[in-house]
Amino acid sequence: MKAIRANIIIALAGGFTAGLVFGIFLPMLISAKSEQVVSYEEAAALFAAGNPEEAAAMEGDPEYGLTFEVLPGAKRYDGPALARSMPIETKEAWLSWMRNNRNDNPAFLEKRWALAQDFVLSSELKRPEDVRAFLLAPREHFVRSQNRGFEYADTWLSIGYGATITDPDVVAMMTTSLDIKSGDRVLEIGTGSGYQSAILSFLSQDVYTIEIIKPLYIETDKLYRDLEKSYPSYGGISRKLGDGYYGWEKYAPFDKIIVTCAIDHIPPPLLKQLKTGGIMVLPLGPPQRQYIMEVKKEVAEDGTITLNRRDVYNGLRVKFIPFRNEVGSSYSAAPAEE
Ligand code: SAH
Repeated sequence: MKAIRANIIIALAGGFTAGLVFGIFLPMLISAKSEQVVSYEEAAALFAAGNPEEAAAMEGDPEYGLTFEVLPGAKRYDGPALARSMPIETKEAWLSWMRNNRNDNPAFLEKRWALAQDFVLSSELKRPEDVRAFLLAPREHFVRSQNRGFEYADTWLSIGYGATITDPDVVAMMTTSLDIKSGDRVLEIGTGSGYQSAILSFLSQDVYTIEIIKPLYIETDKLYRDLEKSYPSYGGISRKLGDGYYGWEKYAPFDKIIVTCAIDHIPPPLLKQLKTGGIMVLPLGPPQRQYIMEVKKEVAEDGTITLNRRDVYNGLRVKFIPFRNEVGSSYSAAPAEE
């Protein structure tokens, strides 16, 4: 009994001391240089102002939610190897492999196959690698709930925040034109729904994507995390919130760059971050209509840069949503055509 009472007294005294320390002294100490923050982003900015090293260390921390980077030595799931192991010679063989190896809702498989066949016939998908990547990516997860029923319609759809998930045929064409080899370092500007990068993750293990709209970044980041168990290649997609006009210097140079927002010039930082011999594909033109342009960069020994351009869509034009800066204005210099 005595022992218990003594314990209680010690506990009370301990509690009192702890209360003093944690309740009064510590806050007093901290308050000397503490500031109220409501988000991790603000917290990071505070540290950035006071302690650049700490801020840099935080940048890659998924806890902070605004950048997710796959660490350099990390074992990456081999999306391209999975794609190579999938039979695509006949629909039956493919369907049976999908049923045995994937978790996809069977209701969508026939539609996905049909769309891929259309794109093969129209040469919008050319290489078998691209057909495989297209067949592996479940568009139904990236089309948002307000557009149920249109998952495999060959059209762009709104994903909120003024953004769209690109038409599947345009995705197919742009993907094919990049000529991605397993191991290529690929950068996408404009994560949006996440669909394009999901496809890229079956073509290379080294994919990076940047989105400028914060709630959209967060939504798609969460989607990838939720899907990662069934689709482990998404765990290899490094992503960040930011202005893609400046690329991602830390991981440059890139073998391939795909821009999925409209701009009337090639952003110089992106061109700089493209390897020599690398390919960039982008919707190039004024805000109302763009050509889908493929640009190959060559650099001669004397430093002369040569750009070889090809119109991927044979003169047809598309309308992508604008490449914007952080305050929301368009990077395009040309006035909108009405
Ligand atoms: N690849 C996406 C396309 C989304 S639409 C998909 O298929 O879903 C284009 C995206 O580009 C939008 O999400 C838009 O917010 C984003 N964007 C516009 N300007 C940007 C910039 N400066 N940096 C990064 N992303 C940008």
